[in-house]
Amino acid sequence: MAEESTFDLVVLGAGPGGYVAAIRAAQLGLRTACIEKEPALGGTCLRVGCIPSKALLDSSELYDQIRHKAETHGIRVEGAEVDVPAMLKRKDGVVKGLTDGVAYLFKKNKIEWIRGFGRLTGPDTIEVEGEDGKRTVRAKTVILAPGSVPVELPFLKFDGERIIDSTGALSIPEVPGHLVVVGGGVIGLELGSVWLRLGAKVTVLEAMPTILPGMDGEVVKQADRIFRKQGFDVRTGSKVTGAERKGDKVIVSVEGQEPLEADYLLVSVGRRAYTGGMGFEEAGIRLERGVIQVDERYHTGVGNVYAIGDAIGGRMLAHKAEEEGVAAVEFSAGKHGHVNYDAVANVVYTWPEIASVGATEEELKERGVEYRSGKFPWAANGRAKAMAEQDGFVKVLADAKTDRLLGIHILGPRASDLIAEAALALEFEGSAEDIARSVHAHPTLPEAVKEAALAVSGRAIHI
Ligand code: FAD
Ligand code: NAD
Repeated sequence: MAEESTFDLVVLGAGPGGYVAAIRAAQLGLRTACIEKEPALGGTCLRVGCIPSKALLDSSELYDQIRHKAETHGIRVEGAEVDVPAMLKRKDGVVKGLTDGVAYLFKKNKIEWIRGFGRLTGPDTIEVEGEDGKRTVRAKTVILAPGSVPVELPFLKFDGERIIDSTGALSIPEVPGHLVVVGGGVIGLELGSVWLRLGAKVTVLEAMPTILPGMDGEVVKQADRIFRKQGFDVRTGSKVTGAERKGDKVIVSVEGQEPLEADYLLVSVGRRAYTGGMGFEEAGIRLERGVIQVDERYHTGVGNVYAIGDAIGGRMLAHKAEEEGVAAVEFSAGKHGHVNYDAVANVVYTWPEIASVGATEEELKERGVEYRSGKFPWAANGRAKAMAEQDGFVKVLADAKTDRLLGIHILGPRASDLIAEAALALEFEGSAEDIARSVHAHPTLPEAVKEAALAVSGRAIHI
């Protein structure tokens, strides 16, 4: 007989959506469990996503600085070498530290980690199949957070060796001679940057007319120029038709182009909700193209079953999943949850970084919104000049009549950190004038955000 246990709240999946939901539930005094099939907590983000990719981005950026930027500062370094196994080991250590950290937080909050694959067998019941057999778990409230997996193209099947997904690209054991990337989105450019900086030739094949489709056009245009200057061979409008293994090489066919010979082929053409084989539809939960359908309270319409994160669609971002996890638990406990999707920042961790929050100029034009734009280049910011970082700009978009902030777009150093101020201002429904009138320490990068806000009304001081 399967062991049975009962909880107030059970979360399926321990990614940033699921583990944060579990902690919030425990904070509310609920007897909480979290089901996770992998040997470590933290989900895609901690194990094979945000964290390992940023660890490699930081390592490779340091190498790039030593090789290419140190001299600008009057520092000559000879003989810098990459030790790929050591770099990968450091990355694994960063991941272990953080996934162990989630296990510690579970212990601290008295959350039980039920290790195994969970299947919904009723609105309040999950059957978990683990190494020690089956276990039936009952809960008054269930939160589904099963996340997402990479999209696999039928004509570019992953082989786990040379035709790889993002997880494979986080562990390539040597610097590839030639890395071909299918998809000029965020994964392609981030992981492409890692291997480019370490010395690989990197070709990016993007089907659409631009890389990073959907981001602010002006930012993308300048970023594209910078990436090409860095050495990326960016080929937009490229239709890949297939790939064939030839020993350790992959021959990639592209419509209207010479076939490419790659050492590794990274296919990063998006992710899809991971929702099959878990009894969701059988339980009455509505899926559309595999995406769990929920109402504005994250309720699935079945019993007390809620769903959050990558599996419910929208932007696939860790911080979005976390906020939904907190909100779903709060709604399920009769409290008020809150996620303002207009103030969810989006970051691409290339160098320079790209960060944005709110609407793009293209979206505002499409919606017929009248807006004013203020721009400030890094070339005029004292701290950026001191850092020898001149590429890019900050752009602030505000309503033409009310001055209310509509969107902020940054291409430049540490844009990932700078966007927090913009997100906060949007969350508080602030105006460009609010940022413009706030005192910013000198000399700092955030001064460029203030200057761009001043530029909305033509009052930037340093341009
Ligand atoms: P996930 O993190 O996917 O977690 C779902 C968990 O559920 C998994 O651990 C899975 O094993 C478990 N699970 C699923 N089904 C079952 C089951 N039946 N039984 C038991 N367990 C189950 N986002 C950012 O915001 N910033 C970044 O810098 C960033 N970088 C990324 C880099 C890469 C290479 C990738 C691939 C993604 C990146 N993302 C980033 C996206 C981010 O990782 C996801 O948006 C986020 O992890 C989604 O969280 P989640 O909790 O919804 O799902
Ligand atoms: P993406 O949606 O960002 O980019 C996929 C790209 O592939 C797009 O530009 C698309 O036009 C292109 N594409 C699609 N089909 C193609 C084809 N057949 N041939 C050539 N190009 C094709 O997806 P991704 O880069 O795989 O990342 C998946 C998701 O993971 C992201 O959307 C994001 O939500 C999340 N993520 C976030 C971060 C971050 O926040 N920094 C980092 C990595 C991943």
